[in-house]
Amino acid sequence: MPTLACRTFCTCNKSRDGPLACQQQCLGLHHLTVRQRRQPRHHIQSNTLPVDIARGPAVLTGITPAQSPRNFNDAPPSKADARFRSLTWNLRNRRRKGAPTSRPDQSVEPLVKRLTWSEDETVHPRHLLPTVARRELQDATRVEVQHLLAEDKFEDHDCPICGGSDYELIADTERLGLYFPTSFCTRCGLMQAQPRPTQDFYNKFYERYYRRLYEGQETIPDERAFRSRASRRPANFVNWVLNQPIFHEQIAAETDLILEIGCSAGMVVSRFADAGYRAIGVDLDPTFMELGRSLGYDLRLGKLAEVELPEAPAMIFYHHVIEHITDINAELATCAELLPDGGLLVLAVPGLNYIDKVYRSDLREYLQIAHVYNFTLASLSALVMNHGFRLVAGNETIRAIYQKGSPMDPTALFDVERLSARWRVQRLEAGRRELVALVDD
Ligand SMILES: [Zn+2]
Repeated sequence: MPTLACRTFCTCNKSRDGPLACQQQCLGLHHLTVRQRRQPRHHIQSNTLPVDIARGPAVLTGITPAQSPRNFNDAPPSKADARFRSLTWNLRNRRRKGAPTSRPDQSVEPLVKRLTWSEDETVHPRHLLPTVARRELQDATRVEVQHLLAEDKFEDHDCPICGGSDYELIADTERLGLYFPTSFCTRCGLMQAQPRPTQDFYNKFYERYYRRLYEGQETIPDERAFRSRASRRPANFVNWVLNQPIFHEQIAAETDLILEIGCSAGMVVSRFADAGYRAIGVDLDPTFMELGRSLGYDLRLGKLAEVELPEAPAMIFYHHVIEHITDINAELATCAELLPDGGLLVLAVPGLNYIDKVYRSDLREYLQIAHVYNFTLASLSALVMNHGFRLVAGNETIRAIYQKGSPMDPTALFDVERLSARWRVQRLEAGRRELVALVDD
């Protein structure tokens, strides 16, 4: 771990008592600093791994059956070993419950061999093990998506935060076992799909496969299901926003316009509307929108840049949507254009630093083909700050409120993100070994 001088986490260098007391650019990120200090208790120490993490992708993708954890862990038992055993126990337990830890379907193997990202590296079939339970329809859809991926080429792109093009590959597959390379930017640390499936692929994917792959069913919920689902995650999110002082400083009930992008059936919009706020939802897909409309909510078809609004919104929010958008900078630029000075941008995305709670410490379970970017509060903030916003409130869940005007300097957050990206790579590698070990059993 680096020393905990304030300059480690921000550039202000003004706090005498280190980063925990920093009132400058670390503001709002104190808990992240605390998390950094606690890491050694939880993460698997690099000296118990048989590979040099710093050597990068060649090492991380080249697992062979001989390299099972039983054979290559020469280090003496440690807390990390205990952690490793408990993770393995969880996986065995999942297998007993009929969850997917069986050998991968051999029929996909010839296809797999064609999926390469360089001349001498091929995805090992063992890596195509799904790490989450699926329904029958999901399995069938997975094979179709695998074929579509093989047809459509992957393409390189520059990092949306720092513009860099130097990446370190850390994973070749995602939670359902689909080939989906994930890398982190060596300059700013943003973890992202790279090389990335083309926009063409994503257009087809959302049109034909997304719901089937994610839900495992194609039925549209009825009103009862709508209310019940809206009372869970959407309600938690809306309550969190309503509990933030900045929301009440900026937004007046009934007169100010709140806009949601990617509203689907309008569950989050419904919670704001029921609380007395003027809320409009926008989405590209009309299928689920009909349900919300029939319940009396204002939902409109279209893109943020095109949809007609009665007035400029005072707040725009994305609830688990922005991590799906490939041209994320264009989207954020449109938000910055639409919002007045002092306007709020509220973002909720899955948090990389929250995988212990939601994804059982399994980074691969977190990675999914629809998510082209994987954020921590630091990387999300660095991205949004580039568009003239400042962070007002946020946590690693991730829920964050940004305000237009007096932007912060995003480069201050690069070091934070790079450090935690390196730490996650170690955990990912450990998780992958467990899967390989189970297959070898
Ligand atoms: Zn970058």
